Amino acid sequence: MSTMRNDVLRVAADEFASKVRTLSSPFEVAIVGSVAGGDPHPNDLDLAIIISNTGEIATIAKYARQMSRHYHAWEVFLFDCDLSLIGTICHRRECPGRSVECYDPGCGKPPHVRVNPEFEYDEKIFLTSPIDVLYTSFETSRLLARKDELGIVESRSYPVIEDITIECVRCGETFVFTGAEQKWYLKQGLSQPKRCLDCIAREYED
Ligand SMILES: [Zn+2]
Ligand SMILES: [Zn+2]
Repeated sequence: MSTMRNDVLRVAADEFASKVRTLSSPFEVAIVGSVAGGDPHPNDLDLAIIISNTGEIATIAKYARQMSRHYHAWEVFLFDCDLSLIGTICHRRECPGRSVECYDPGCGKPPHVRVNPEFEYDEKIFLTSPIDVLYTSFETSRLLARKDELGIVESRSYPVIEDITIECVRCGETFVFTGAEQKWYLKQGLSQPKRCLDCIAREYED
């Protein structure tokens, strides 16, 4: 089941790449991070796109929003040809608009782009992520070339976490604690569950 999520995100990314490559400004599109690294439990889909000018951002943003048909937690990082970060694509159809997201001071200038003033872009950290280039019109990928230039050899890795079974302390039945759940628990700093879902549900009944 966990690998299925990775596949779904890849389909979303491939669709996005095949649409944007029909435009004139995008030079390169890549998946960055956990999905590119084959993480069996990815939380989000991060994409990088290098563009030559900002003229087609509205269309690029529309194609990005269409990824939400597959998965909502996507992020598209827009770069200019020198690999300076322009910003990330706003998820709202109208940007700048009246939605909460666009109230952020950095949203909508230029339209459809969020420039988070709190977020300081760290090229080294960004490029240490696994990168899977879906499309490039440069001779070689500019993202990968920059990664080489910076001497980044190792990419972050994403170990497979095996599902485990736990015996419920209440009813004695075993239940599956999936790899994806374990990853989430770890991130939240929680210890593993002791009771099965049925027993937890029963507790809330009375
Ligand atoms: Zn916005
Ligand atoms: Zn139980």
